[in-house]
Amino acid sequence: LAKEAGKNCYHLFDPESDRKAQGHRQQLERLRLALQRGEFVLHYQPKVDLGDGRLFGVEALIRWQDPQRGLIAPGEFLPYIGSVGSLERALGEWVLDTALAQLEQWLNSGLQIDMSVNISAHQLMHDDFADSLDRLLCRYPAIPRARLELEILETAAIADMPRAIVVMQRCARLGVRFALDDFGTGYSSLTYLRKLPVDTLKIDQSFVRDMLVDPDDRAIVDGVIRLAAAFNRHVIAEGVETLEHGQALQRLGCRLAQGYGIGRPMPAEQLPAWLHDWQQRAAWQRLAVS
Ligand code: C2E
Ligand code: MG
Ligand code: MG
Ligand code: MG
Repeated sequence: LAKEAGKNCYHLFDPESDRKAQGHRQQLERLRLALQRGEFVLHYQPKVDLGDGRLFGVEALIRWQDPQRGLIAPGEFLPYIGSVGSLERALGEWVLDTALAQLEQWLNSGLQIDMSVNISAHQLMHDDFADSLDRLLCRYPAIPRARLELEILETAAIADMPRAIVVMQRCARLGVRFALDDFGTGYSSLTYLRKLPVDTLKIDQSFVRDMLVDPDDRAIVDGVIRLAAAFNRHVIAEGVETLEHGQALQRLGCRLAQGYGIGRPMPAEQLPAWLHDWQQRAAWQRLAVS
């Protein structure tokens, strides 16, 4: 009967999925309102060079400051937003604009750092992406464009590789740079990697986390570091939680790192205090000279 009734009517006879669909719609409505009311915030996580101890950049990570429930992680709301293209683009533009405004402020205050922003696959593949990025960048003439790095999931880039290459090349001509996020989880072919205008491979945190105990993960980390070197790309490790991770990575030839062990994502106003603290952390700073 359900089959005969077709997809549209099926929900009427399935209270379970009807409830789900309604919950989904309500959640979307709350998120739309959240954007209007300015309830989203960006936190920033430090990226450091273990080779000289320098803070060279931050990654912007979105959170929802829900008045009822407090701070909500992106994993809880981005999947909903991803189901509505217009909302996803509106939020994506808000993220880029907010991150650039913050970067401008930091550059003005003498903090010379890069800004990394996560871009979803839908967002990247939308016809207007490169043009709207161009328009946005024109509103921040004081920001050197190479200071902006767009993080694209490796899996997103390979889902429609020919299109990804075209869009990324257009953006690269604007002067921005790209990193492939969660690298190692998507099995990029080497041929494609060669064609993508990507400056940096970001080793997925799952491999980094277990590299000290799991020889396979360590081999993958080692492999990505060598791959990056062979293709003349930068490489950064995410999920660096302990000093031991930092030491092991540096021995393997990966100087750039990001993770809870270095600094958690934090509100912009906390970055100067974190930086002061970081510069006093002798054990990590000694990695720079060892
Ligand atoms: P991602 O881009 O791979 O970001 C890294 C995630 O790992 C962040 O989670 C970060 O807080 C967390 N992390 C950083 N260091 C460590 C560590 O040492 N250990 C562990 N266990 N975790 C660490 P978060 O903030 O919950 O973000 C999750 C994902 O949501 C991000 O993964 C990214 O794919 C997506 N995301 C976040 N903000 C945005 C955004 O503005 N736009 C889009 N499109 N996606 C975003
Ligand atoms: Mg990222
Ligand atoms: Mg990642
Ligand atoms: Mg991730």
